[in-house]
Amino acid sequence: MGGLMHAFIQRFTVFASVVLLIALLPGCADYDGERVRQLITDDAVKALDAKIEVALITASDGKPRLKITESFVMWQDRVYVRFPNSFLRKERLYDRIENLTTRGEAKLYPYKNIESIKELVHKKGERVEFSYLYRPDDPINYNAEKESFSAPIIRDHYFQFIGQMAFIFPAGLEDTNENFSLTLSWAVPKDFTVFNSFGGRTTWQKLKLNCDKLRDALFVAGSNMRTTDIEVRGQPVTIAIEGRWPNIPDAEFNDVVGRLLNQQRKTWNDDNFPHFFVHFLAQPLSCKGGKFMGTAHTDSFRAVFPDSCKFEPEMKQLISHELMHMWIGKKIKVGRMQGHYDGKWFTEGWTDYFSRLLAYRAGVLSEDEYFGTLNRQLNKYYQTNEKSTTLRELVQRIYRRGISNRELEAVPYQQGEIMAWRLNKKIKEETSFKFSLDDVVRGMLKEVDYAGGVKNFTPEEIAMVVDGYGDNLFQEEMEKVVTGDVLIAPELPNCRASNKAIIMDPRHVSRTVLLYGERRHSCDRWMN
Ligand SMILES: [Zn+2]
Repeated sequence: MGGLMHAFIQRFTVFASVVLLIALLPGCADYDGERVRQLITDDAVKALDAKIEVALITASDGKPRLKITESFVMWQDRVYVRFPNSFLRKERLYDRIENLTTRGEAKLYPYKNIESIKELVHKKGERVEFSYLYRPDDPINYNAEKESFSAPIIRDHYFQFIGQMAFIFPAGLEDTNENFSLTLSWAVPKDFTVFNSFGGRTTWQKLKLNCDKLRDALFVAGSNMRTTDIEVRGQPVTIAIEGRWPNIPDAEFNDVVGRLLNQQRKTWNDDNFPHFFVHFLAQPLSCKGGKFMGTAHTDSFRAVFPDSCKFEPEMKQLISHELMHMWIGKKIKVGRMQGHYDGKWFTEGWTDYFSRLLAYRAGVLSEDEYFGTLNRQLNKYYQTNEKSTTLRELVQRIYRRGISNRELEAVPYQQGEIMAWRLNKKIKEETSFKFSLDDVVRGMLKEVDYAGGVKNFTPEEIAMVVDGYGDNLFQEEMEKVVTGDVLIAPELPNCRASNKAIIMDPRHVSRTVLLYGERRHSCDRWMN
């Protein structure tokens, strides 16, 4: 038994070191930069009549640029505009902007010492227009030209970006949910196909949306993408793939996306997706050296995987995770502090729990793959000293250069998934297997509907829903996250094989903890 155990540990350690996952949810209304308040009335928003044209051009240095031209109707003589700044790990994206010019008499002035904000001056009631070139690289902070998932990717035959990475916005729009009209046009080579959060295969779109939807939108265009249209529960989904994975046929990507969307929309009784866009980009990297990265956006999601990978279970889990954010993260929000870091145990942890579980139910992960990927997460959690970080300290340190680290950043994901498992087990036992944690999220989604489509839950409000399935289930779990107490994954009777699963005191971090071994009986009553 000792030898077998050792073999397991070795295998997990190897896996843990080669696979780095980034599955972050960029908050669309989370500004790292300075706030600038500028009231805009609902009538002014409606009268904005915004227009954006995106053109792909070649600059004199032979490199491609996006030429972006924006215009809107001034609602007062001076309007503060926000420039692209930080996205995930990139900062100062405005350094990539060049040749910023205004048309006619309009003028742009600096605003205090804040580089990401400028003051736009033009006659109230008149249309103001400005344009700029967007570089594929950052000439100031980076010597080597390097594509980043956190900045627009701009090539001769392809580009992708997120709204807030590239567009300049009137700052006043950040404080209103009112819709404005936007005409989007694309001046791209004839053989290009354009896709985005609002549809695709057209170079002209007339939209009604609010600022958050536009900032959070995904835009992709290119001449070599392979696209597939599938239908999920009667709704269209477009999958566009750029680049190739020799070991993964496109059909497998399409199959996984279709199964996951089907399972998730069924589980949450939600088919309100008139269109949905999924984008995969291959990165020429060894699977060992690369990272799996994905982000969720307005009615869409994107991922980048190294092209030498087989279809690893972790890649499928990442896809499921991002798709799951359409509910947890976009509709159900948690967290009051900057970046909603105080709610990540829920928005990332519960997302990991459901994405992994629903991938299993969808037949995308086998039972072995389910517990294999879960064990690798548990393993990392029990091995890191960061697991004892209090919630307050986590909020202060996470994603801060110099004081954050990957282990710390993974903790809320791990805490939340273990908490979810503990609660699911308790709810099943309290209700004789009639209900599960699924019902908690369905209950929260009902409250989301009452609230108009988005609701930011406090821990007390989550407790109200959870405790509907048993007395005081939630408080104990929340305490552990707040105080940095270790969450121990629950035993699952008839699921965990007794001779391979060893639960030790996780505070003794010198030894590996392996929680779920080979099953003796089906685990399904815990997982369905
Ligand atoms: Zn996430």
